[in-house]
Amino acid sequence: MECSICGAQAVYEVKYNGSSLCKKHFMEYVEKRVKREIRSQVNFSRKNMKISVAISGGKDSSVTLYLINKILSNRRNLEITAFTVDEGIEGYRSTGLQKAEKLCKNLGIKHDVISYKENYGYTLDEIMKIDKKTISCSHCGPMRRQLMNKISEYSNSDYVALGINLDDYSQSILMNVAKGDVSRYARMAPHSYVRDGLVPRILPLRKIPEKEVVLYALLSGIDFDSSWCPYYSMAQRNTFRDIIDKLERETPGTKFAIVKFFDETRPAIKNNISSESIILNKCKICGAPTPGEICEVCEDMESIRNLERAT
Ligand SMILES: [Zn+2]
Ligand SMILES: [Zn+2]
Repeated sequence: MECSICGAQAVYEVKYNGSSLCKKHFMEYVEKRVKREIRSQVNFSRKNMKISVAISGGKDSSVTLYLINKILSNRRNLEITAFTVDEGIEGYRSTGLQKAEKLCKNLGIKHDVISYKENYGYTLDEIMKIDKKTISCSHCGPMRRQLMNKISEYSNSDYVALGINLDDYSQSILMNVAKGDVSRYARMAPHSYVRDGLVPRILPLRKIPEKEVVLYALLSGIDFDSSWCPYYSMAQRNTFRDIIDKLERETPGTKFAIVKFFDETRPAIKNNISSESIILNKCKICGAPTPGEICEVCEDMESIRNLERAT
């Protein structure tokens, strides 16, 4: 297999466009598309900008930080910073945290850690011991989103960047469609608008297939954590992963087509849904942005405390 551009030995076959690429041209191909995505998601007209990158130590967030740094570090008036959310999962988080710290140190980027224990009083392990019925992601998703927002707001960041690849992103789009959740569909990242107290999220890798993210990480020598969260059991997401992968095998380019459909339909949907579902209040307990009076994390913590008292 030869590189379609230079004839050198190819390392990757791009099934959805019929070309093959050598190491150099593969890396350029990824970088060019990430650069284009960053340009389309970030408004660079502001002065003294700051982008926070949420890094778990896994491949997606590590490549996100690496590429944001590579593409943007020469810009004046732009600061790049990184943080890791520590859920308190024995044996799993510590490995990711070490890899995240190492990468930040190599790139010369400031790295912070924000933990469930310090902010909510419980580690995820403790929560899972108290509540044996609920799947971990129902607690963890809102907690993580809220802490990401808290630390980005605290550090005065204009954007928080997440490592979401094309596979994850196209799954999330279809999951919202299948649930009929129009308002969540309309509110998906990337966010171009700033809402009170909510730092806009950007997704530089949202058009890079997972396979390409892994290969890019390996070729650029990024040492990432490849372990899975021990609580991972998102059965529903796995169903969507299987369906989309099957479609992609039969018709290469399907994942891109799903994102294209999303990009083209979202503006119309956004204009159509009532503005009420977009307005946010401040949680009466913790002050976090919420559509209701009490945020879902405070409600969840209240039920955890009740469960703990009852046992
Ligand atoms: Zn080449
Ligand atoms: Zn709250």
